[in-house]
Amino acid sequence: MKAAVFDGKEINVKEVPIPELTKSQVLIKVKATGICGTDLAIVKGTLPTPTPLILGHEIAGEIVKVGQEVENSWLGKRIVSEINSNIDFNCYYCKREMFTQCLSRKALGIDINGGFAEYIAVESYLIHEIPDSIDFNEATFIEPLAAAYQIFETMPLSHNDKNIAIFGLGKLGLLIVQVALLMDLELIVIDGSDKKLELAKKFGAKYLINRLKIKNIPNEIKKITNGLGTDIVVDATGNPNAISDIIASCRTRGKIHMKSTHGLDTPMNLTDIVIRELTIYSSRCGPFNKAIEGLKSGNIHVKDLISKQFPLEKIDEAFTSYEKSRDHIKTILIF
Ligand SMILES: [Zn+2]
Repeated sequence: MKAAVFDGKEINVKEVPIPELTKSQVLIKVKATGICGTDLAIVKGTLPTPTPLILGHEIAGEIVKVGQEVENSWLGKRIVSEINSNIDFNCYYCKREMFTQCLSRKALGIDINGGFAEYIAVESYLIHEIPDSIDFNEATFIEPLAAAYQIFETMPLSHNDKNIAIFGLGKLGLLIVQVALLMDLELIVIDGSDKKLELAKKFGAKYLINRLKIKNIPNEIKKITNGLGTDIVVDATGNPNAISDIIASCRTRGKIHMKSTHGLDTPMNLTDIVIRELTIYSSRCGPFNKAIEGLKSGNIHVKDLISKQFPLEKIDEAFTSYEKSRDHIKTILIF
């Protein structure tokens, strides 16, 4: 099969064997895999991984083979795969049902081979069937959409939480916008792309701030919020330089939710956090069932977030397209 293999320096498409199945695995014929900021970070060298490695963790496809212990009824099913594999079901976290933090876990496309390939073998406990109404391109958004839902799983809202500022309108930011609207929050969105800001407005964001046109973003946010700042601020920027604005835009005793994996030491004003009693939350992977339901019900729209599609052979071009334009949201590899 063809696979895009990262050797620690660059990605090359080459012929590799189709993976052998263990008893508990299924073989997925990959139909579409999204390219994520994490994949870029790996190639840039800011997120070290073992090599050689097939990257890609936003995987949608069809089951073409099942291991001895897996129900035959999975054959031919259209599915998406979660990413936290090699779960031991026995460690401190597994015993408390925190499987995504299992001490033995290995992430697809980050620690072990992922979905930039024609086929991938995954543990059957990772797969979720998708309805026919969700196409494979849309399905690549289920993993990041689940992560967007996870914000509100880990951060309980109180009756005082009425508004939210979302910094960064990449793929994840624009998914968070839509999930936050389902929570009946009033939205302020901050980005450098007017195109992305307009898209957030189309979804229902009330206030738009173009960070390239407004010098003092926290002041602008305070003007909108009676001088207070927002009840909740989410960081989806991937940019450590945004952190000081993010802290300053949060009202006293407000909530900050860290969603970006900067991969760097980030300086921040901890004194301001202590004096104004801010709470910092964070979250990573989320509930796939909620994400699938969100797409199926029509509450979440992802078609407008697809900027470009490339075949696997053009993975180099796919990666460069990602960073070329400020308006770019999401590239998908199609098979
Ligand atoms: Zn475990």
